[in-house]
Amino acid sequence: MKALQIVKWKSAPELREVPDPEPGPGELVIRVGAAGACGSDLHLLDEWDSGTLNNVEPPFTLGHENAGWIDSLGVGVTGFEVGQPVAVYGPWGCGTCKNCRLSMENYCLNLANLKAWGGGLGFNGGMAEKLLVPSSRLVVPLGDLEPIKAAPLSDAGLTPYHAIKRSMHLLGAGSSVVVIGAGGGLGHMAVQILRAMTPANIIAVDTRESGLKLAKDHGAHHGVLSSDENAAAEILDLTGGNGAEVVLDLVGANPTLKLAAECVGLGGHLTIVGIAGGTLPVSYFSQKFEVSIATTYWGSVLELMEVLALAERGLIEAQITQFTLDEAPAMYDKLRAGKVVGRAVVVPG
Ligand code: NAD
Ligand code: ZN
Ligand code: ZN
Repeated sequence: MKALQIVKWKSAPELREVPDPEPGPGELVIRVGAAGACGSDLHLLDEWDSGTLNNVEPPFTLGHENAGWIDSLGVGVTGFEVGQPVAVYGPWGCGTCKNCRLSMENYCLNLANLKAWGGGLGFNGGMAEKLLVPSSRLVVPLGDLEPIKAAPLSDAGLTPYHAIKRSMHLLGAGSSVVVIGAGGGLGHMAVQILRAMTPANIIAVDTRESGLKLAKDHGAHHGVLSSDENAAAEILDLTGGNGAEVVLDLVGANPTLKLAAECVGLGGHLTIVGIAGGTLPVSYFSQKFEVSIATTYWGSVLELMEVLALAERGLIEAQITQFTLDEAPAMYDKLRAGKVVGRAVVVPG
């Protein structure tokens, strides 16, 4: 079968012919319906090396945001049927530690000892006709949702969902939330999740006018261009001068972290989700009193089920730009250039 692989660190991905995967005992093979292209893939392709990712060496197939249909079941797998539509949970933990038992494989306590982080993140991912998944723990039945609609929910949906859920107690009536990078794959989902789950005033921030439009089309109440030198003042104005209860930084670069710290209100949450690698100097006077700063990584299997349920109810929906496997290398160039609307997904069939 054809697969889009990273062959060497810091180089363009290549379409290659690879053997079809066969499920061993306890494993499943998924016929890929769609594989999303995440901003993290750009970090992986452009910046990372084996030191970032548990000493993994390429080649491996890209694509960590996947959904499709069960193609074959290994010996001993029960509870699933060939042909059944499923979403694939992306962070593959050890399966036995306390956090994995809580379905939070994103925070597996044995992460440092794992061979890789998941399909598309060291193991072969979903940018191929078929995907090997090591355990039925890592697949979630889809019900009525089409795989192409579900794939982006497994990361672009799940990651902001988890980040928002930990701050729900701050997002009551009269509260404000700032979403930095609101016009991207994660951003336009974050805005919809906030609308579905909270009454908060949603302030979208992006460098692209087109991104602000996308965020507003999906429910943001205000849009602020982050390249504007008055961005912080504008946001403070929109929050009655006090700053926002929650700031989600879906970029994580030096200027966005600085803006986030300027805009988060007393007792607020500044949550760093973007992996651009910026740093935020923290001192006694660098932000308002009792601000908490946290990073988050993905979400739990249970939270993925909740995200899928929101979509099944019609409360959230990823905006998708579709590509074939042959178009996938060029798709990443478009993503890098900020020319993708919503989430880019590869449909290999
Ligand atoms: P994306 O390219 O689809 O979206 C990024 C958005 O940020 C775009 O709209 C872009 O215009 C905007 N942006 C870029 N620089 C900006 C700036 N300085 N100020 C304001 N907006 C800016 O990417 P994505 O897939 O949504 O991913 C976003 C980030 O989240 C990436 O760094 C990715 O690696 C990271 N990520 C983290 C997790 C996690 O678990 N922590 C999961 C998925 C993605
Ligand atoms: Zn991702
Ligand atoms: Zn574990």
